[in-house]
Amino acid sequence: MSAIRVTVWNENLHDRTDPRVKEIYPTGLHGCIREFLSKDPKLEVRTATLDMPECGLPDALLEQTDVLIWWGHMAHEQVPDELAAKIVNRVQNGMGLIALHSAHASKPFRLLMGTHSEEMTWRESNDRCLVWVTEPNHPIARGLGRYIELDAEEMYGEPLIFPRPDELLFISWFEQGEVMRSGMVYRRGNGKIFYFQPGHETYPAYHNPDIQRVIRQAVHYVYSGIQPRETIPCPAPAVPRKANS
Ligand code: ZN
Repeated sequence: MSAIRVTVWNENLHDRTDPRVKEIYPTGLHGCIREFLSKDPKLEVRTATLDMPECGLPDALLEQTDVLIWWGHMAHEQVPDELAAKIVNRVQNGMGLIALHSAHASKPFRLLMGTHSEEMTWRESNDRCLVWVTEPNHPIARGLGRYIELDAEEMYGEPLIFPRPDELLFISWFEQGEVMRSGMVYRRGNGKIFYFQPGHETYPAYHNPDIQRVIRQAVHYVYSGIQPRETIPCPAPAVPRKANS
């Protein structure tokens, strides 16, 4: 099997302007994600950022992307509607999408879910977070313990105004009492989407080996192997009509 072509997209704004983020992620959130995914020989990993021409995602790259990973927060509205529509189209035609943390409010994810941007409660107060595994035998959760422990993470809490997922794999608990359905798989057309909550930019979640394992295993899970087609063929009938009926 040829390598799964992964594109890690990041708006890359906090990463360049906030010294706290620079310290935790010197090569950017996208750089960190690329580094740990690149250790998997079955993956071919590229990065793309908002400041690049065509927001980093020209048609040719999008068509050669099997799995798109998305991290965005403060610049969702800078992503053109046209690009968001193309991403939705690629997902419906088989591209996998992994929406990380605040990507729940990104245009492509909102279009795919039918949601707006105010989907949950949130608070930044250094809450300890336990990401509980609800499906330990699922390919995305394999190899984890009962939960992933993060010393501090932004609290995202219920009620969560997402559609009911096709698969619910994780529920996060925060030390001041909130909980959230935090790792879900959705199917849209031929594509699979995985949403995963950890990853606020001022905390080091993407350095955690268990979080890295989840994202790596999610890439394999949402990969469909379906290639984009330029036209849908209109074939001759497979079974000819009977004569003189
Ligand atoms: Zn955040």
